Amino acid sequence: MAEAQGYHMTPEQFRLYGRVVVDWIADYYQRVQSLPVLSRVQPGEVRAALPTEPPLHGEPFEAILADVERVILPGLTHWQSPNFFAFFPANASGPAILGELLSAGLGVQGMLWATSPACTELETHVLDWLADMLGLPPHFKSSGTGGGVIQDTASSATLCALLAARERATGFASNETGCNGRLVAYASNQAHSSVEKAVRIAGLGRRNLRLIEVDERYAMRPEMLAAQIARDRQAGLVPCFVCATIGTTSSNAIDPLPAIGRICREEGLWLHVDAAMAGTAAICPEFRYLHDGLEYADSYCFNPHKWMFTNFDCDCFYVADRATLIRTLSVLPEYLRNKATESGAVIDYRDWQIPLGRRFRALKLWFVIRFYGVEGLRYHIRQHIAWAQEFARWVQEDPRFELVAPVPLNLVCFRHRAGDAFNEELLERLNRSGRLYLSHTKLDGRYVLRFCVGQTHTEAHHVRAAWQFIQETAEQLERERG
Ligand code: PLP
Repeated sequence: MAEAQGYHMTPEQFRLYGRVVVDWIADYYQRVQSLPVLSRVQPGEVRAALPTEPPLHGEPFEAILADVERVILPGLTHWQSPNFFAFFPANASGPAILGELLSAGLGVQGMLWATSPACTELETHVLDWLADMLGLPPHFKSSGTGGGVIQDTASSATLCALLAARERATGFASNETGCNGRLVAYASNQAHSSVEKAVRIAGLGRRNLRLIEVDERYAMRPEMLAAQIARDRQAGLVPCFVCATIGTTSSNAIDPLPAIGRICREEGLWLHVDAAMAGTAAICPEFRYLHDGLEYADSYCFNPHKWMFTNFDCDCFYVADRATLIRTLSVLPEYLRNKATESGAVIDYRDWQIPLGRRFRALKLWFVIRFYGVEGLRYHIRQHIAWAQEFARWVQEDPRFELVAPVPLNLVCFRHRAGDAFNEELLERLNRSGRLYLSHTKLDGRYVLRFCVGQTHTEAHHVRAAWQFIQETAEQLERERG
């Protein structure tokens, strides 16, 4: 090894092993559907296969990659398998992975515009593109009063929205003297747990989160929201924040934004809209109705890392009034001062998020949008929705099963009529088979199976085979139970 090189990888080695890794990934995608979707390792098994001590001397790259195959692969649940129907997807794609590789290769840290102007400007531009692709109201664009930023996750977006709401409600006093214990936040009882986490972190306190009742479609009941706000005001509390969900995690329920929005407008509450997975559907004009009422929202987020072929992590967070968000989150120490910031002509995204540092995530999003094109993305989203709708029809046609919630998009909530214990055992067997992976939830106290179509490489035949296997496994279980 040349002395100047020390222990570093040489450019030649990087070229060589880089190709090997890219080949490995391409092979992985070709074989992933033959691997058990849900990992079968026992707790501690992966660690037991690793040496207790780190290597004192560097090892050949081949040995490292061999251990990926030997130790890591069996310990993976294959989110990129076409037979992955659990939770919500976290789908990836070739252009996204290559964009991510390039981002790692460039290794820039875009905390300030000045620390890598392209990192900031590409992000602003791509988020403006996306605002148009989703039909968001114009004030969410950088040319309006607001703008978009990439966060790691929807959880962070919700926290940032809540912090800004807290400051707006207290005239920015909470940042100075702490939270007053009287602020109240609202979400439906189907909202994601990240709302409760945000309420805890932001200092409102879990008891000041009101979980509003839902209707028979599992959507928030606006009249219940209005009544709760009135009760809280009467009690001397200060309502400040509502999180509405477009596509709840359990059942993909869609909260009625126009009615909720009008209440928020009248009451002066910050409305945050969490469209983590379902938001992607609005790329298709026929599903844009999902965003009806978004003109009332102060903030909005959706996750391209769920359903838009952009590997984790990538949440797009939009605010209608960027000044409030920036005033909430900006702290400017001397060592970050620079001429560009002082000119006021640039965006410093560090002021739009919790951490200081940030990766060049916009690259992968840019690659995805350019490679697929808007029509390409629509094509695949429509297919996922159509296949889920077909699956829902099969469930309805089989008298042993029932649908448990409406199926507006790509998630089917269903169950066997034989009861909770049967469905639990059915899910356990299906997942243990390794042939597919589903997850569950509870709706109205009943155990429900969730089947979500959104994996990049899922085809109609995977969905058909999954339903056939679910039917066969149920039959087998029925026979065993007499
Ligand atoms: N909101 C909804 C509706 C979700 O379904 C999820 C995750 O599934 C989240 C928020 C949290 O997502 P993240 O992992 O991006 O924080």
